[in-house]
Amino acid sequence: MRIAIYPGSFDPVTRGHLDIMKRSLNLFDSLIVVVMQNNKKTPMFTAEERVELIKQSVVEAGIPTEHLKVVSNAGLLADFAKENGSSIIVKGLRAISDFESEFQMAAANQKLSPQLDSVFIMTRAKYMYLSSSIVREVSYFGGDISSFVTSVVETAVKEHYRRQHGE
Ligand code: ADP
Repeated sequence: MRIAIYPGSFDPVTRGHLDIMKRSLNLFDSLIVVVMQNNKKTPMFTAEERVELIKQSVVEAGIPTEHLKVVSNAGLLADFAKENGSSIIVKGLRAISDFESEFQMAAANQKLSPQLDSVFIMTRAKYMYLSSSIVREVSYFGGDISSFVTSVVETAVKEHYRRQHGE
C-alpha cells in the first residue's frame, strides 16, 4: 500500500487543492489530507471547520472517497507520517515562488525522517494563480469566488463575513 500525505492549511480548500487530491488518488493507493494547525496565523476557519469543508468539497467535486481520509494535525508532519505508515508527502507547485520554501521544507522533513520523500505535482495552468489567500482577499472585498471554490466553501465564506459584521 502506497499511502500518501497531502498537508496544507486549506484555509479554505480551493479547486486547485481538489485537483491535486484527485490526481494524487490516481498515483497512490490512498491519500490522507492533513490540515496542519499553523499557530503563526489566525485562520479564517478552525481546523475542524477546514476538515469538514474539505470532506464536503471532495463529494461536491465528484472525487471518489473510498481511499481518501481527511484529518487535522497539530504536531510534526514527519511524526504524523510515521504514525500513519506513510513515506510520501505530496505538494502542489504553482510557481518558482513555491519552489524555494517547498524545497527547504522537503529537505528538513528528510533530515527529520530519512525515509520520507516529497513528491511535487505541478498545478494545472488554469489554477496557477489560485491560492487560499486569493480566495480570502477577493471574498473580503465582496468579489465572486464561485470559480475558485466549491459552493459549500462559498457559502461558508459568506457566512464567515456575515458573522464577523454582525459582531
Ligand atoms: P495556499 O494558501 O497557498 O493555498 P496551502 O497550505 O493550503 O496553501 O496549500 C497546500 C498545498 O497545496 C501546497 O503544497 C500548495 O503548493 C498546494 N496548492 C495550493 N494551491 C494550489 C494550486 N492552485 N495548484 C496546485 N497546488 C496548489
